[in-house]
Amino acid sequence: MDARLLDVLVCPICKGPLVYDKKAQELICNPDKLAYPIRDGIPIMWADEARDLHAKPAESAPLAD
Ligand SMILES: [Zn+2]
Repeated sequence: MDARLLDVLVCPICKGPLVYDKKAQELICNPDKLAYPIRDGIPIMWADEARDLHAKPAESAPLAD
């Protein structure tokens, strides 16, 4: 992905900067704990398409939220 494109991309929810996860091909918003997918080099900047990083693996300890 073009690094210059990343400079102009912000989270559509909080308008904050995003972190490019090259391995996962995702753009991460740390404050919102959302990961926006990159498909065919195109960042999908829709909250509906974002992966929720709050979601815990089923195997994790049963801690109350
Ligand atoms: Zn955000």
